[in-house]
Amino acid sequence: MIYLACVLLGGGVLLAICAPLFRRDSAVESAILEETEWDLLQRKKEVILGNIQDLDFEHKCGKLSDADHERIRGELAGEFAAVLQQIDDIEKAQDLDALIRREIARRKNQPSPDVKRSCPSCGHSNPAANKFCAECGAQLKS
Ligand SMILES: [Zn+2]
Repeated sequence: MIYLACVLLGGGVLLAICAPLFRRDSAVESAILEETEWDLLQRKKEVILGNIQDLDFEHKCGKLSDADHERIRGELAGEFAAVLQQIDDIEKAQDLDALIRREIARRKNQPSPDVKRSCPSCGHSNPAANKFCAECGAQLKS
């Protein structure tokens, strides 16, 4: 009985320890799968920013001449601007996509113009598809 309890407890603890590991694995996997060009550009942006900081630091430490610092910094700044522009383009395109999706959804949700047929006998307003009045059962004119 004690043995069984130990096995159950051990299994439970093991499960509790391992569960987050498996969850994290699948999260990482889906993150990789869902990585878009935008994500890559964001990462590139961070890398370039880091490089500029390193460059400034090395220049401050005297490892880099003023001329080299200025030249490389100019190159990095150009790269950075290009990446920002690409991110901007993607975001604009996504906005347009979202706009189109919203417009399509709006039109789909619009009720189709309801043609009602009024009953010749009681005057009840019936949907156009009805052949007989929903109120009194009289045949509707086609
Ligand atoms: Zn009727």
